[in-house]
Amino acid sequence: RRGRGRCTVCTPELCEASHKTLLLMETLQACIAHGFEGFSARYQPIVDAQTEELHGCEVLMRWSDELFPEGVTPFEFIPYLEESGLIGMATSWLMDEAFEKAARWTAKDPAFVMNINLSKYVLDDPSFKFRIVEAAKSHRVEPRNIMLELTESGMITDAADLGGTFDFLRSQGFGVAFDDFGTGYASLNLFRVIAADELKVDRSFLERITYDVNDQRIVSSIIDLCHRMNLSVCVEGVETEEVLGVVRALGADYIQGYLYDRPLDAAAFEEKHLDGRKQ
Ligand code: C2E
Ligand code: CA
Ligand code: CA
Repeated sequence: RRGRGRCTVCTPELCEASHKTLLLMETLQACIAHGFEGFSARYQPIVDAQTEELHGCEVLMRWSDELFPEGVTPFEFIPYLEESGLIGMATSWLMDEAFEKAARWTAKDPAFVMNINLSKYVLDDPSFKFRIVEAAKSHRVEPRNIMLELTESGMITDAADLGGTFDFLRSQGFGVAFDDFGTGYASLNLFRVIAADELKVDRSFLERITYDVNDQRIVSSIIDLCHRMNLSVCVEGVETEEVLGVVRALGADYIQGYLYDRPLDAAAFEEKHLDGRKQ
């Protein structure tokens, strides 16, 4: 079928891998058809780098199914949702789940900001931006309490198209962030065609940050660039006090990482980070 003069190797391992892929896609589709069975949301705190007080959280998607007892990470299932065009429905589901919590948490803390991930594929649907506005309205969340993270922003090649969409969302009051900046083919063009409010520095920059002067210079320059362009900077993946010390000294505005907490379910997050802290 692939034409003459070709040779295809098939090993038991390869067959097993493609079988797993197929099973994963079929199961995901069935779960979505059954009202998002197995889907859930986790919330990870984001703190102010200087005061270490709670700033907000990022909502992260989870999915589990008994057919995959070893678990399926977002790095495994999100690409399938993107490829199959189901990411819009899944994000929409997550938005309803998360905005309901955001309404409750901003009532306790009016400055609380909830970050949610938007794959560029969900914005291929030109009506999705209206769905975001509608979700905020129906859950009575102020758009200024929502930050939309454009994931894999480094891979964006048609940034100009997204520019108009994000202009609209910002005009409605939502914040916009470039996620995972520094990975993939991060392009400075992004800054020229999309007006944003925040940039998230990818965890990969922190691996050697405590001793690699070049990595410090890169992160410091990114922070500098952002501040000159009126973007705040959130550094993700901070796991130790030592790394915290460095990124704080480099001028980061917000910190997210296991040092403060792992992603938690809504009840645990609320109890620990909104009710448990000193007023
Ligand atoms: P991301 O948007 O960069 O999210 C941050 C990831 O880093 C999360 O992984 C979080 O659990 C992890 N993380 C945070 N702090 C630390 C730390 O100190 N150390 C380490 N080792 N990891 C840390 P998670 O939840 O597995 O999500 C992975 C990716 O999947 C996300 O990366 C995002 O690109 C994607 N994703 C998750 N939820 C959604 C969603 O609702 N929509 C879309 N489009 N993508 C999502
Ligand atoms: Ca993110
Ligand atoms: Ca990120």
